[in-house]
Amino acid sequence: MLDKKNFYINGKWVSPEEPRNYKVIDPSNEEPCAEISLGGKKDVDKAVSAAKKAFESWAFTKKEERLELLEKLYVIYKKRWAEMAKLISLEMGAPIKFSTEMQAATGAGHIKSFKQILKDFKFEKDLGEEKNNQKLLYEPKGVCALITPWNWPINQVNLKVIPALASACTVVLKPSEIAPLSSMLLAEMIDEAKFPSGVFNLLNGDGAITGNALTSHPDINMISFTGSTRAGALISQNAAKDFKRISLELGGKGANIIFKDADPEAVARGVLRCFRNSGQSCNAPTRMLVEKSIYDKTVEKVKELANSTKVDVPQKEGDHIGPVVSEVQFNKIQTLIQKGIDEGAKLVAGGTGKPKGLEKGYYVKPTVFADVNNQMEIARTEIFGPVLSIIPFENENEAISIANDTPYGLTNYIQTQDKEKVKRVARKLRSGMVDVNGVGIAVSSPFGGYKHSGIGREAGTEGLIEFLEVKTVGGWN
Ligand code: NAD
Repeated sequence: MLDKKNFYINGKWVSPEEPRNYKVIDPSNEEPCAEISLGGKKDVDKAVSAAKKAFESWAFTKKEERLELLEKLYVIYKKRWAEMAKLISLEMGAPIKFSTEMQAATGAGHIKSFKQILKDFKFEKDLGEEKNNQKLLYEPKGVCALITPWNWPINQVNLKVIPALASACTVVLKPSEIAPLSSMLLAEMIDEAKFPSGVFNLLNGDGAITGNALTSHPDINMISFTGSTRAGALISQNAAKDFKRISLELGGKGANIIFKDADPEAVARGVLRCFRNSGQSCNAPTRMLVEKSIYDKTVEKVKELANSTKVDVPQKEGDHIGPVVSEVQFNKIQTLIQKGIDEGAKLVAGGTGKPKGLEKGYYVKPTVFADVNNQMEIARTEIFGPVLSIIPFENENEAISIANDTPYGLTNYIQTQDKEKVKRVARKLRSGMVDVNGVGIAVSSPFGGYKHSGIGREAGTEGLIEFLEVKTVGGWN
């Protein structure tokens, strides 16, 4: 078992002030694989104070200096890519191929993308004569608390840490206590790149004590959070007390609208996107809306695809899916599958229980329900497992209305070869992102949602601006 009890504060690995040991569980076999400590109030104070002190000089660094450090970090990340992939696979169960080519790759992708965005970004602008020749300054928001989940661990961490450092903020990162190992490796890389002490700090911990102490700390200026809508609401309440800036990436319940003129690959693409990462993606297309004239044959096709989706151990090479992250998640998914059966949806593949031969570990059968009504719980709750609900629709307007009838609004999907229909439907979908015929978001495009899916955008120039305040100065020239 790995000993990972120390925190990275003020440029050093330090022991916790108030040790509270916590075991990280390998979801592939339910055994502990590492031990961390959960930080208390004193640890939070120490990390925030280091970040506050470091901000005094880091805030005034030249962007070239920050670019040079990010370049070093990128080189180190690429060198340690395989280590990163192994740790992600260990902590959250992603199969090693997926972990290497997708999970770990996103970490490198965000460093590369933000280097370019920083290079191009102008932190000062002249507003021109009609605006009194004022100067516009983009300035770092200050000390940021970054709180992340376990499902795409380094993706979510680098979507926050990299633009925060690029914009000259200082940070305290609290990764998910369920999957903290990838973040601890990132801390080692940041140390190796020689970022100044206190600019980046990492504290492990839970939500109730560590997360709460961090988000209510008076010296935190901004909170960037990814995770559940439940925690997002609690964090917003903490932030509101002293008007901390806030950015939230929350859940989703994406609709994938399959029109009768969809291309031949559309259905397979939809199933793959729903099941990959064992269904643990906020932007997964978990509601497949199918036009009535192609409904029966589509259900048959989905059934075949689900039955041929392989589930296996993460250590094995291949394109299978792995376990879900934890016992809590496993039990939640099982309860929701049972709920679907009880509510009268038609189970066409999978179901409750573990796949044959995988009794140890949190493995879930790829599950499909047909004849789902959008009011059923399986159509409304973010299940976060390999569970797909198929819902029939009559016409375009009905498809749009079902897609929008959800508290969420992250990513919706359209499958049709009619270009005009694409434009009409895309404009009417209430979501931050629309993926059309498999063309989705690029690494440097803004990512985020409408409604309960969150506030703000990550990635792209918008993702850098999230960490900046705007100052307008008169009489500059
Ligand atoms: P969570 O929101 O409880 O945890 C995410 C992060 O927030 C963790 O680092 C956690 O320690 C921290 N946290 C929790 N409560 C907090 C609080 N009150 N104050 C400050 N920090 C707090 O998510 P979870 O328990 O890991 O997963 C629960 C559900 O959330 C999942 O089933 C899924 O539906 C959803 N989820 C969504 C995403 C996403 O990307 N949108 C990611 C993970 C989980």
